[in-house]
Amino acid sequence: MTKKMFDKVLVANRGEIALRVIRACREMGVKSVAVHSTADADAMHVRMADESICIGPPSSTDSYLSKAAIISACEITGAQAVHPGYGFLSENASFAQALEDHGIVFIGPTAEHIRIMGDKITAKETAKALGIPVVPGSEGGVADFESAIGVAAGIGFPVIIKATAGGGGRGMKVAKNAQELEVAFRTARSESKAAFGNDEVYIEKYLQKPRHIEVQVFGDGKGKAVHLGERDCSLQRRHQKVFEEAPGPSITPELRNKIGQVCANAVAKINYRGAGTVEFLYEDGEFFFIEMNTRLQVEHPVTEAIFGVDLVREQIRVAAGMDLSFAQDELEINGHAIEVRINAEKLPNFSPCPGKVKVFHAPGGLGVRVDSALYGGYSIPPYYDSLIGKLIVHGRDRPEALARLKRALGELIIDGIDTTVPLFHALLQENDVKTGNYNIHWLEKWLETNLGA
Ligand code: ADP
Repeated sequence: MTKKMFDKVLVANRGEIALRVIRACREMGVKSVAVHSTADADAMHVRMADESICIGPPSSTDSYLSKAAIISACEITGAQAVHPGYGFLSENASFAQALEDHGIVFIGPTAEHIRIMGDKITAKETAKALGIPVVPGSEGGVADFESAIGVAAGIGFPVIIKATAGGGGRGMKVAKNAQELEVAFRTARSESKAAFGNDEVYIEKYLQKPRHIEVQVFGDGKGKAVHLGERDCSLQRRHQKVFEEAPGPSITPELRNKIGQVCANAVAKINYRGAGTVEFLYEDGEFFFIEMNTRLQVEHPVTEAIFGVDLVREQIRVAAGMDLSFAQDELEINGHAIEVRINAEKLPNFSPCPGKVKVFHAPGGLGVRVDSALYGGYSIPPYYDSLIGKLIVHGRDRPEALARLKRALGELIIDGIDTTVPLFHALLQENDVKTGNYNIHWLEKWLETNLGA
């Protein structure tokens, strides 16, 4: 691998994250190539990139997920590296391998590291061996109901059955007793077979009131790694994050340094390259590993805000063989940041609501960042994820960030479609949100009480 910066990077994604990567490329003097489906010919990422190339029909299986089409696009345009964003092919080990086989750099970790962390059982075993605390549960996969009962007897009910190939909050079932376990075990296996083509499941203790705390790590691929603190992403609906903040309201500097160092040391030990997120459930002062994401996260901007670093630039640099541009002792937290995910969805059921955006006005001012590919007159196609933008605010402390979020939400106009913006207006009235007093079940309960959802 050369230490020379790439001339041209292909962005294998769409929407706000494609823009995010194109922006980093432009600031670095690197040319960018957008790829798009026929449904995205008018998309903002296509307009913003230096070049663009159509890679297939609307269905993402035949476009954004088509390895052959993306590799051909690299060959046609002369792109030397691919940034996968999040979702799509970002955690696809065989894609990373195929690129490497074609002499193209994958901006991310090695195929081997993606493979290890992509299988949740192997990931948990690896994390444990590297000194990271894990959720109590089965040793590896659980093949039949008798073994499941044995595991549950050992750790106690309630338990959660999870698919080793799972992701995106899918493939999980909770059981409060042996009777429920029988049904849950059977359905978890069949659903996981149908969704992921793999029916292997494992069992964990179901934690009652944890927070979701994730640690941002960054490795240079040569044995050095740092951590950039944590994000609290406990406000979730159906195991999907909707509101994220950094630093975590419940995490002290001592706890942060301790768990951060454990994670940084672990990834350094395996020569991990690029950005990674080690996800934990945090309850009663203890951290329990659940999984590692080997890519950039949707919520990375809150970390960028408080540390003042560009994580995408860093990903590209490290992929080009350069050293990390910051050392652990140079990374200092400044203030507090919050991100809300704006989806094209109609409340109270969060049903997808694509369509034509008549007016789009983004908020501005001090400490406000909007990452969105929307523009007035744009038609949101119905084929893809419903995330249409992220509003990120940064303040000197949490109360200032909250006040800024309220102010910025008030300035935001998205006319013509329904969005999740009213949810955030309502959440900001809640005392528990104001004080940061919530766990992973808080939002589900709130939705049930307030929206009857
Ligand atoms: P995915 O890869 O599908 O996102 P994760 O393992 O990261 O799955 O879990 C997603 C979410 O599911 C967590 O943030 C948490 O809300 C819930 N969850 C996962 N494991 C447990 C557990 N052992 N106890 C309680 N909740 C859990």
